[in-house]
Amino acid sequence: MATYDEGNIFAKILCGEIPCDKVYEDDYALAFNDINPQAPVHILVIPKGKYVSIADFGAQATSEEITGFYRAVAQIAEEHSLSEGGFRTIANTGLNGGQEVPHFHVHLLGGRALGPML
Ligand code: AMP
Repeated sequence: MATYDEGNIFAKILCGEIPCDKVYEDDYALAFNDINPQAPVHILVIPKGKYVSIADFGAQATSEEITGFYRAVAQIAEEHSLSEGGFRTIANTGLNGGQEVPHFHVHLLGGRALGPML
């Protein structure tokens, strides 16, 4: 598993060094609008803990962190009226997954029919 890079941009957002367009925050997660939206709603949800990827998060996070994080994802989808019509979550992982920022994040996309997956 890759080592966590303390200097990644989402780490800087988490500690307040860099601003973000915040839409949600609790003890487990921070969510903000993606700077380059690919859909009418494009929110990034990140855990408060230092995890490189969904693989790292799934392997190393506590049950409380995992539950708290995914409850936040569900709540954010509900708050943005995505639950009824449907939405997509994506967690790009590693080189082949095209992950650019090495702090685990879920893309929450919706607000229109998104079409086929790739
Ligand atoms: P990924 O390829 O899954 O690592 O996606 C990284 C995402 O972070 C991309 O969709 C970027 O547009 C987004 N992004 C990068 N920097 C920022 C930022 N400062 N604020 C909001 N979104 C960002």
